[in-house]
Amino acid sequence: MKIKNLLTWAEEEIYKGTGSAIPAREAEILLEYILNISREKLYIILHEEFPSEYLEGYKSIVLERTSGKPLSYITQTKEFMSLPFFVDPSVLIPRPDTEILVEEILRMSKNIKNPAILDIGTGSGCIGLSLACYLKESSVSVTDISPEAIDIAKKNAANLSLTSVSFYCGDLFEPVKGLLFDIIVSNPPYISYEEMNDISREVKDYEPSIALFSNEEGLFFYKKIISEAKNYLKKEGFLAFEVGIGQAETVSNLMKIHHFEHIKIVKDLSGIDRVVTGVSGE
Ligand code: GLN
Repeated sequence: MKIKNLLTWAEEEIYKGTGSAIPAREAEILLEYILNISREKLYIILHEEFPSEYLEGYKSIVLERTSGKPLSYITQTKEFMSLPFFVDPSVLIPRPDTEILVEEILRMSKNIKNPAILDIGTGSGCIGLSLACYLKESSVSVTDISPEAIDIAKKNAANLSLTSVSFYCGDLFEPVKGLLFDIIVSNPPYISYEEMNDISREVKDYEPSIALFSNEEGLFFYKKIISEAKNYLKKEGFLAFEVGIGQAETVSNLMKIHHFEHIKIVKDLSGIDRVVTGVSGE
């Protein structure tokens, strides 16, 4: 069978199975993955015969996809801040919206010399490690309660040739007691258990619940982090969060109550309030 025809078959299957908005591109990505070739190379060989020894393999990953498994868990990779991240089902797949948070931190950290940064609940490491890549003079620490996530973050640091990031496995601030940072960032689990039935099957069935859900209407981790952050922030240091839909105002109020200043809300690409930042006053 010609590669082009096989792609048409895969595109239809993926569309039927998942309703994906980009079934053709997904079919291509899976084909690039199975043949281990680039997009450019795929376009050159589109009219050639598909190598038969890979046919079963390709069909089986297309079926995995049509049954709902997210594309990034099949290819085990996701691009974030133009960097490649290894992912598996023990970590959340990095989201484009989270890039807004990283870009805001890059902007805010311009005036800080050699910033010490803490990323709480790092998962794949996408936030902390991309900051380490783009802020060469920074020193980045990342924490996660999941040992599997810390292993993946370490693997990603190695892939990105980052040698000086510190990794801590533990609950929130517990593993960094006594340390002080210029910047604390987190994209904590923020979906409330009440919203569980509103999220897509792909997310609910495949991504780790520990990275998605939180008590107290999804606000539990914001409350914990905000109430303790000042013990770990230097003077004029800042705290930055990604927040869920409708949470920005509550999170900024919590920050105000804890005497954070210059609180700012930044919208994501869809116009939703997505990032909240504040500066530690004292
Ligand atoms: N920090 C990681 C990310 O932004 C993981 C977040 C999480 O697991 N809630 O993707």
